[in-house]
Parts: sequence; structure tokens; C-alpha cells
Amino acid sequence: MKKESNLFRLRDPARAEQLARALLRLAPSKSVKIVHVCGTHEAAIAEYGLRSLLPEGVKVYEGPGCPVCVTSTVDINLAVMLALEEEVVLCTFGDMLRVPGTELTLEEARAQGADIRVVLSAADAVRIARESPEKEVVFFAVGFETTAPGTAAVLLETPPENFSVLCSHKLIPPALEALLSENTEVDGFLAPGHVSTIIGSDAYRDLVEQFRVPVVVGGFEPLDILYALALILRQLRAGRAAVENAYPRAVRPGGNIRAKELMERAFQVVDAAWRGIGVIPASGLGIRDELARFDARNRFGIEAEAGEEEPPGCRCPEVIMAKAVPTDCPLFGTACTPLSPVGPCMVGVEGACSIWYRYGERPRL
Ligand code: SF4
Repeated sequence: MKKESNLFRLRDPARAEQLARALLRLAPSKSVKIVHVCGTHEAAIAEYGLRSLLPEGVKVYEGPGCPVCVTSTVDINLAVMLALEEEVVLCTFGDMLRVPGTELTLEEARAQGADIRVVLSAADAVRIARESPEKEVVFFAVGFETTAPGTAAVLLETPPENFSVLCSHKLIPPALEALLSENTEVDGFLAPGHVSTIIGSDAYRDLVEQFRVPVVVGGFEPLDILYALALILRQLRAGRAAVENAYPRAVRPGGNIRAKELMERAFQVVDAAWRGIGVIPASGLGIRDELARFDARNRFGIEAEAGEEEPPGCRCPEVIMAKAVPTDCPLFGTACTPLSPVGPCMVGVEGACSIWYRYGERPRL
């Protein structure tokens, strides 16, 4: 009952109107670009039509916030290569199956006989490994700081010897930094609620100090998002740049200490290739040397060559870098749809193109 009343409060139309009026009062004199890095934020913005409540000139883009979309072609190729090994069972999240590699998707590899299973967590893959001791079970681990603690936990709990991880976890703060270094038009960040629950709002302080750009952590209900956007506009209006937490019911300044400890014990920070961006220094997680026997790259001695990143005409790199919106792509909704995706942003449920197609979103630029 209490939950229902909270939900109602967070979707209260009267409060939304109040916030929309506040946003109008805070309207900047010049056009501003606010970037979020979270598919859940984009889905809520599109589903509830929040762009229509923003003042003229306030543009909100999704940046590199879809873990499926930013997984590099190299890692997809490695996963395909492993999956095609006879003794291997490759486990991964369902969204990964249709992401284009250089030659094959995992779904196409499965059609060629590869044993690929969809799981909901690393723990599911460990269970499969225990049930199939004659097989090598590889978990293709993708995602940001939200999914990485789950992978860390199974690595630290002494999984069976026939289990290993192809680790492609990535870190959000270095991606924001790369975006600011590359895309100087960004005026503020709506920081992701899920990731911030783990890393804490303090994790953005260095970024704010270095780039003098407002960062506001936001939740996922429509009012959470409008409130966070209002705080960003208020900072811009006052010429301030600070970290603010508009999601205090879930996010603490220091984050989730236990989850951060697990990540620290299982992983080391490494340079990582992001699809659409390239290599970002210290932006990925590799498995620590002490746990190297569970690292699929070591166990199978695999290396894949970098391939062509995107199919001709696909503008995913610009969408991921918040330089374009999905409807800027000539293939959007014609050659490229969720049923026959051309680029990664149309594949994952958190990809901007997939979300815009689903909700009929149009730019407010
Ligand atoms: S519409 Fe398709 S091809 Fe175009 S950017 Fe999006 S995913 Fe890439």
C-alpha cells in the first residue's frame, strides 16, 4: 500500500505541472544540451513525453548509456569465436545476441550450431557450469558498475573450474570524461541512478572540478527526471557547476561500499574499447591476476582483430557520442528497425534508436 502511494506521488500530474512551470522559469537564454547515459532514463523520457515539457532550446540526448551498444566489435567477435568452439557453452544476456560483429552475430553463430544460452546473471552461468562439468562454460559479462558487482561476486565465490568470464564490463565516469573531451557542446549531465547507487554521487566530483559542468544524479520516475533537469538548469542559470543528488532515496554520496569492495577485489581497471568512441583509458574492468584462471581470454588464448565498426550509413557512433539523435540517421525506421536492426543502437532495449522507434519519439531541437 505504501509502495502504491509512493508511486502515485512520483507520477502525480499536479507535481509534474509544477515542475514543468519551474523548468520554464529556469529556461536558459541560449540553447543547451543535456546528456544522460542511461537507457532507462531515455525510455522514461520517451514513454512519458517529457521532452514536450522542456523549455524551447533545452535538448536532451542519450550518450553512451546502453551497455549493449557500447560493447566493442572486437569483444563481440571474441564471443562469437568462443561460442563456435565445440566444448564451449557461451552464456550472456538476451540483448547481446543480435549485436553485429564483423561477420556474425551471436544469434547467427547459434544458427550454425553454437551452444549459446541466455541468462539473467553471472550466477545463472555458474549454475549451468555445475550442471555441465564436461563443458567449458563462458559468461560474456557486459554492462557498467551495476552488473559488474554480480560478476565479481561469482568470481570470488570459487566457481567451478569449467567456468570462465569474457569480461567486457565498463565504467561510466571515464566515458563522461571522454564525452566532454570530444563533445564540447555538452552543458550538463543527468547522471544515471542505477550506476550511481553503486559508485555514489561523489564519484563525479573530479569530473565537475575538471570540466566545470553540472552533474545531477536522477532517478527514473518522470518527476525524478524533471526535478533533476530543473536542478541542472538552475545551476546553468546561476553559472555554477556542482554535483547534486536528486535521487537520495537510492543514492548515497559514497555509494554501495560492499559492491565497490567486491569489484575492487575481483577486477583491475584497464583501458577499454567502446563502440562508437574508441579506446578510453582506464574505462574498463579486467579480471585480476589472482583470478586469471577464470579469465576466458587467458584460458583460451584468444585474440580477435578489430573489424569495421559500423555498417555503411549507420550513425550509431554519433548517437553514442550524443552528437546525433536517432532520427538523424537515414536508415532509422526504414532499413533499420528492431526486427531487422542495422546498428547496435537498434538492438538493445536500452539503445536510443530502439527506444525512439518503440515510443515514436521525435526530437525537440
Ligand atoms: S537507426 Fe539503425 S543504423 Fe541508424 S544509427 Fe540507429 S542503429 Fe544505427
